[in-house]
Amino acid sequence: MSDTAKERKFIIVLGPPGSGKGTQCKRLAKLFKLPHLSTGDLLRNHVNSRTDVGQQVAELIKRGDLVPDDLMMQILHRRMLEPDSSFGAVLDGFPRSAKQARLLDRCLEELGNGEPTSMWVFRLIVPESVIIQRVAGRRICGSCGKTFSHNSGEGKSRLTCDADGSPLVVRDDDREGTVRSRVQIFEQQIPAIVAFYSERHKVIDINADCAVEEATELMLSKMCLSSN
Ligand code: ADP
Repeated sequence: MSDTAKERKFIIVLGPPGSGKGTQCKRLAKLFKLPHLSTGDLLRNHVNSRTDVGQQVAELIKRGDLVPDDLMMQILHRRMLEPDSSFGAVLDGFPRSAKQARLLDRCLEELGNGEPTSMWVFRLIVPESVIIQRVAGRRICGSCGKTFSHNSGEGKSRLTCDADGSPLVVRDDDREGTVRSRVQIFEQQIPAIVAFYSERHKVIDINADCAVEEATELMLSKMCLSSN
């Protein structure tokens, strides 16, 4: 499927923390040979590398607050100028507000130079109890940022990263209180984002309280059925 696709393809995956956005985005990126652009990873790279941006956003991320829209769009825009994004991308964690959705539309239009572009917008739906359970079991590599889930068996009772051997740690913003606040922010923002995309594209709801493979299959089947 990916070899024949030459038009630009953007896949947006919306969902609260712990909904499996990162996992699904990685799988779709691999299948469609597109870059997986995670705004959370881009920001954490800035923080770990102690760039100016990293210093500006570190405290916001730790509290679970959103990074200002214009700054976030600038960071993503810079990343999208890299050649691997010229045929599209799988967007993980963006947009997170209606303003970001508007900025993204403008950015894609500008970068697209009139090229045909297809876009899919998925919303992953998972009950809050499952979110809290999944995030409680999440660990990341303190060095490369790779995520491990105890709940899925991947990295079970593992203390170090399988990629580089560094110790696994709990993300600062994965403490239960912060997760609840991140879910709340998501719930506040999502209606306006969905309203924005419902006018332009079809938002596709996916019940993601299921096995990883099942959710991917569901998304792929919706893409085949879609006339996008
Ligand atoms: P999750 O999806 O589990 O909340 P992410 O890794 O996507 O985790 O994001 C981690 C944090 O990075 C967010 O809580 C927020 O502080 C910041 N962030 C990520 N994406 C955005 C965005 N599009 N706009 C503003 N802040 C963002």
